[in-house]
Amino acid sequence: MSPLEWMFVPNRPEPPSATTTGPSAPRRVGLFGGTFDPPHVGHLVTAVNVRHSLELDLVVLMVANVPWQKEGTRRITPAPARLAMVEAAVADVPGIVAGSAEIELGGPSYTADTLVALASEYPDAELFTIVGDDAAAGITSWERYREVVERSALVVVDRPGDPVELPAEVPWIRVEVPRLEVSSTDLRSRSNDGRPLDYLVTEPVLDVIRSRGLYRDEVAVAGAGT
Ligand code: ATP
Ligand code: MG
Repeated sequence: MSPLEWMFVPNRPEPPSATTTGPSAPRRVGLFGGTFDPPHVGHLVTAVNVRHSLELDLVVLMVANVPWQKEGTRRITPAPARLAMVEAAVADVPGIVAGSAEIELGGPSYTADTLVALASEYPDAELFTIVGDDAAAGITSWERYREVVERSALVVVDRPGDPVELPAEVPWIRVEVPRLEVSSTDLRSRSNDGRPLDYLVTEPVLDVIRSRGLYRDEVAVAGAGT
């Protein structure tokens, strides 16, 4: 039965709860990592569309603990607040979950280590690492990037701007998603200037931003945000 047909079964029972092993365990799991400072509609549209295109059971929006490549370039919102925003963003989105494994691991976040953690959480699953093309362009600077492409299939989505080429030794799949010209950098600066964030982040994320008083008095640092 397709998920759509499932919706129309009268008095349908609750779907089986997500378990990490056994027959109902996810078989195809996407890892979509980021700083998510804050999470926006570009992230959600990407996660939902890659999940659909590649028939993934689950996409994990993994919140970086210490985004080591961004450290020192700007103020990073503390990880628990970024996790709270991602949890709010995905709460009602089927098949998309917030991941806290990198926060639990502590220290700088390396995708190679995260994939090991995911492989032990979902031992039967095929793993996919999802990145925007700006992030993909820097993949050879990632810690143990060869391990990333050995442990998972690399999935690249285009962001607005010039498409990038990857080194020939890096295997990857391109997935088309609607291109949305939105970035967390722009959202932080909008918030700082008092411009609205409405429709660029979802309502539940706005609620977390408001209730925690995030993104006030951002200090702009030239060149920050990649
Ligand atoms: P910042 O501007 O602070 O760098 P960001 O918007 O790029 O934030 P990140 O948390 O850095 O968001 O990105 C996490 C992942 O999401 C990266 O792989 C990035 O390429 C991808 N991504 C971010 N925004 C978009 C978008 N609008 N469309 C597609 N992918 C995106
Ligand atoms: Mg970025």
